[in-house]
Amino acid sequence: MRAALESAGCRYTQQRAAVFEHLSQVHTHPSAEEVYLAVRQSLDRISLATVYKALEALVEVGLANKLTYGDDAARYEYRESEHYHLRDVATGEVHDLATPFDPDLLKKLDPRLAERLAAAGFQVTGYRLEVLGRFQS
Ligand SMILES: [Zn+2]
Repeated sequence: MRAALESAGCRYTQQRAAVFEHLSQVHTHPSAEEVYLAVRQSLDRISLATVYKALEALVEVGLANKLTYGDDAARYEYRESEHYHLRDVATGEVHDLATPFDPDLLKKLDPRLAERLAAAGFQVTGYRLEVLGRFQS
């Protein structure tokens, strides 16, 4: 845990390590508050603000992804390989989509898109795809 944080350029603290460990073990894309409630079980003096700062530090060094949804609370995930998401619009739950990631999908949508954006001064660095829906109960 310590080596992973430090090799990514993230200063090691016990709190950051606990937040990172939790994030790397769950597949639920938790909010900062959910991470806080889980990590508090073992570090009872940790605050929500500390958890939030730890998550932001992990995002900054590339160990975590932050998924934002307008006014809803941001969700975080351990940064694994690129993948798509499925989001339940009723509950806000986010799951990984079990389908291969296609690095050329933008090209398939529009073969000249990246070129046109580059001409407008925008360099494409990636894309996100999220399938929206709701689980039938
Ligand atoms: Zn994910």
